[in-house]
Amino acid sequence: MKTEPTLPAHNWPTLEKGWVWLCGAGPGDPGLLTLHALNALRQADVVVYDALVQEDILSWAPQAEHVYAGKRGGKPSAKQRDISLQLVDLAREGKRVLRLKGGDPFVFGRGGEEAQTLVQHGIPVRIIPGISAGIGGLAYAGIPVTHRDVNQSVTFVTGHDQSGDTPSSLDWESISKGSQVLVVYMGMKHIAQIAQKLISAGRSANEPVAVVTNATTPHQQVLETTLGTVVEDVAASGMEPPAIFCFGRSVLMRQVLDWQGQAAGIAPRDLDPLGRGRPAESA
Ligand code: SAH
Repeated sequence: MKTEPTLPAHNWPTLEKGWVWLCGAGPGDPGLLTLHALNALRQADVVVYDALVQEDILSWAPQAEHVYAGKRGGKPSAKQRDISLQLVDLAREGKRVLRLKGGDPFVFGRGGEEAQTLVQHGIPVRIIPGISAGIGGLAYAGIPVTHRDVNQSVTFVTGHDQSGDTPSSLDWESISKGSQVLVVYMGMKHIAQIAQKLISAGRSANEPVAVVTNATTPHQQVLETTLGTVVEDVAASGMEPPAIFCFGRSVLMRQVLDWQGQAAGIAPRDLDPLGRGRPAESA
């Protein structure tokens, strides 16, 4: 970076030799990194990064070796066990290792498994959380993941299990009934089954749905649709993963909170999208 922010007076942790810091890189926009992540990037000897980590972020660690360890659904990629053992080896070589993962390392990111392997091998670790795509990515699309008038709970769901299928262990019926808003990660491949399971479990075909791909990056795309039409609309759009799906009325808030559209001169479509008769409430 040209204008290096001075980190506030604080005992910034030192990334010691032989340690692995497991760090979230946020959903894409480099500005969504944490200061701890920046501090780590500046100290690392080696950065082992995932497919969803933006190149710009790596340029903040010019002194480090950059090792790609991406895994993308359906494409040949490094095996999880191999990645974890590679981290063990690098630490044992005495390197300062930064393991950089998209979003938050402990949210559908296998960060827990990597940390477990490191601990089992006696490697000291530090965990640096990140902004998860299911929260920050939706915020960039103008969708608040909770809103007092919409939901008192939100459920984060993965659209894949370890075998790559729709998770069979998930009780879709309870999930559908138990939470007004569902945020689905890795749902693109199985969106047809997911939509069908939600409708069978009683959710309305008219329920608002948003699909956000490449959230927070310059390639961000947002599609607003409904549960009954999501499959055909996604197919017609040609949208590609990574995608976050949001099911629920919070999607309607985008009509007033699409801040990126507004910055581009697009007026809000509706100031009272929930039909509460009080577009801006102060209490
Ligand atoms: N640990 C990550 C999730 C990893 S699983 C996190 O906390 O965000 C990978 C899935 O995350 C993708 O299939 C997609 O569903 C979602 N994802 C990650 N980055 C995304 C982005 N920029 N836009 C949309 N979805 C994203």
